[in-house]
Formats: sequence, structure tokens, C-alpha cells
Amino acid sequence: MKTPVPDYLNHVLSQCNLNDSGALADYIPELANADPNKLALALSTVDGTVYTTGDDDVEFTIQSMSKPFAYALAIQHLGLEKVLQKVGVEPSGEAFNQISLDAKTKLPKNPMINSGAITTHSLIPHDDQISRAEHLRRFLSELAGRELSFDEQVYASELKTAFRNLSIGYMLRTVGVLDEDPVDVVNGYIRQCAIKVTVKDLANITSVLANGGIQAKTGKQLLDRGIVRQVLSVMMTCGMYDAAGDWLSTVGIPAKSGVAGGIIGVLPGQVGIAVFSPKLDEHGNSARGIQIFERLSNDMGLHLMEGTPSAQTIVQRRYSPQQDDSIVIYELVGALQFAEAEMLLRIVQEEPNGNNTIIFDLNNLSLMNDVGRRMLIEGIDRLIEDGHEVVVVDPDYLIEQELTDRGQVMTIYRHLDDFLSKLSGLTKSE
Ligand code: GLU
Repeated sequence: MKTPVPDYLNHVLSQCNLNDSGALADYIPELANADPNKLALALSTVDGTVYTTGDDDVEFTIQSMSKPFAYALAIQHLGLEKVLQKVGVEPSGEAFNQISLDAKTKLPKNPMINSGAITTHSLIPHDDQISRAEHLRRFLSELAGRELSFDEQVYASELKTAFRNLSIGYMLRTVGVLDEDPVDVVNGYIRQCAIKVTVKDLANITSVLANGGIQAKTGKQLLDRGIVRQVLSVMMTCGMYDAAGDWLSTVGIPAKSGVAGGIIGVLPGQVGIAVFSPKLDEHGNSARGIQIFERLSNDMGLHLMEGTPSAQTIVQRRYSPQQDDSIVIYELVGALQFAEAEMLLRIVQEEPNGNNTIIFDLNNLSLMNDVGRRMLIEGIDRLIEDGHEVVVVDPDYLIEQELTDRGQVMTIYRHLDDFLSKLSGLTKSE
């Protein structure tokens, strides 16, 4: 059996190939030389598997898709609070290169439009040896898992016609958002936009965002979970320029597009997606790229607002091996998040007070998030206070220690049999 995923992606690509709408960006002269027929799609899973189809080895410039990562680096370097003192998080509803500031705060509205991105660029760490753009290139190379390079032609071409971005730079300098030479900062920002990637690189990069900042192949935490959350939130509300509301309702996943024709999207905990097709619609987003994302989101049920419904079941069974309730075992199944933890504690509160043993068997739990863990331990604390002894069967080390938050003791076994055989006086089987 061969997985049907590549066939499906091929099929989507061939259908969207028929769409000939849009036009090449030409305000950066070099981009007008792109081959308008190129089309590529890549999809990555959180375990680091990448499927690609179409022109997946064609390199193009990352352009505005660099903005979320510059933002991530700035937060990693300075902390969120300092970054928020320079750039807001409000959608602007304006074109990407609008020369504007927030009327109230006098700051750029968000890091995904050029005024915010030029400011964010200025917050990336740098020194005499390593420029900010180089710093970002190294970071993106690590995320992509290969050494990326700059497209010197596109960089030079954009520099020659960067009047609008220079105007934004001067505006930012005038109001004190930038405190250094705006020409240098804008040059650095334009260099950041000229990093070359393929859809495969972008899929590798987005897989780290989808996976809470962890690169699956190396197991390295490349970005803090909180930073990933911040970046994805801003992508969700501001990533698609003045089409952000339309995108949220039709596609519904955090995304960022670039003027060279790339779009990246991330569904947290599930997939990263990258497409490339150079012709742009009136908002500056890849026309075929949008169509592909709409199709994938529909077919694969990726819209964030659909949520992941709770399985509505957490207790697989409650049983008593000795028929007398001196030992009661709750066999849990599925994911223990807030909704399931609430359900579990509501069920367990029916246990009459007593000094019997209550066992939570976590063997069939597929996931326990932080709030699920805290609620379970809170429930355990309360059961112990009611007089019960509590045992947890935890083969996957989901619970870190035998002491609860209130310093009470639960006993942890790796296998239920270990507990049961100890009980019946048999020697413990390894
Ligand atoms: N370098 C481009 C600019 O600043 C990026 C714009 C984009 O990709 O949307 O104009």
C-alpha cells in the first residue's frame, strides 16, 4: 500500500494549474522576470515528514514570509514586552506598504505590514560581524535544515526602487520608532526579504511552528512555545494584508504571503503548508496559492474555527478487580485537555468518600496537556483529602512526580500488573 497523500496533492496542484489569473509583481523589477507558470506545493507534518509536488526545487525569494521569523527572533532576543513597545498587533486592513502608523499609539500597527516589519528588523540582534539579515538567514537555515543563501540580484533590484520602503523608514525615524539611520535599516530589511527558499524549505520551516517550536528531526526546541503562539496569532490576524478577514473566513489558518508568490500556512499541532506560484491577485497574494489553500482547507478540514471536537469520552471504563470497590480503576482514553478533564472530574466526584484505592490508568491516553495534568492532579489532591489512596498507572511518564501540588502522595506505577501483582502477593513481574 502506498499512502494516497502525494496523489492527492498532485491532484490539487493539477486542478489549480488551470487558474491563469493574476499578474507578476513588477515594482521589484527582478521579480517581473519570474516564470509565471511555476507552481509548487509542499506539506509537512509535525513529525517532520515533508510531501512535495510540482516545481519543488525552484528557489524564489522569501519576501514578506520572512516577517514572522524576524518577529520571532526579535522576541527571542528582547522579550515580548520590549517588542510590543515598538510594534503593535492590530490588523491594519491596509495595503502591505501603506505609509501609516496607528493613530493612537503612533507605532506601526503590526509586524506583518512593511512599517512594522522594518521596525522588527531593527530589533533583530546584530554585531560588527553578523548583520541582522545574516542573523535571520542563519536562523531560517537552521529551521529549514539546510544552508540558505541570498538572491543578490533581487536584493540589488529592490534596493534601486525602494522609494516607498525608504519613505516608511524615514517616517519611523521621524517619530522615534527607529533610532538609527533608516537607510541602513531598510537596506537590511530588503536583504532579509531576499533570502532564497524552495517550498520544501518553507514546509520544513513551518513544521517547526506547527510543532510548538520543536524541530521534529533533531528534537531541538528552536523557538519557545509562547513565541510560536504569538507569531501564529499575528499571522492569523494580519498575515494576509488587507485580505486577512476574507482569508480567516475561507481558509482559517495562520498564514503569510510574499510578493514573489509564496504563501506559508500553519495549522498548530497538525501541518505546515507552503505553496509557490508567482502571479499575484489585487491584494498582492499568490492567486493560485490562495486557491490551493482554500481547496486544502476544505478537503482536509483544516479551518481553525472548526476546532478539534472533544471525543466526548475520557473514561473508557470504570471497574473493580475485586468486585467490592476496595479498588476502583478508571481506565482513561484519548486526550486529556480542559474539556475532558472537566468531564473526568465530574464523573469521579460521584465516588463516595472512603479509604479505598482509586487508580487512574493512563495507558491509553494519547495526550495530556498542561491544563489536563493540573486538573487531574487537583482532582487527585481532593480524592486524597476525602480519604482515598490514589494510584496512577503512567507508562509514558506524563506525571513528573509522586508528590501532588499540595504535597500529598500518589503512587505511580508504570504497569497496572505491577500494582495488581503486588497486591495479590505475587512477585513483581518485570
Ligand atoms: N520586499 C518586499 C517589500 O518590502 C516584500 C513585500 C511582500 O512580500 O509582500 O516591498
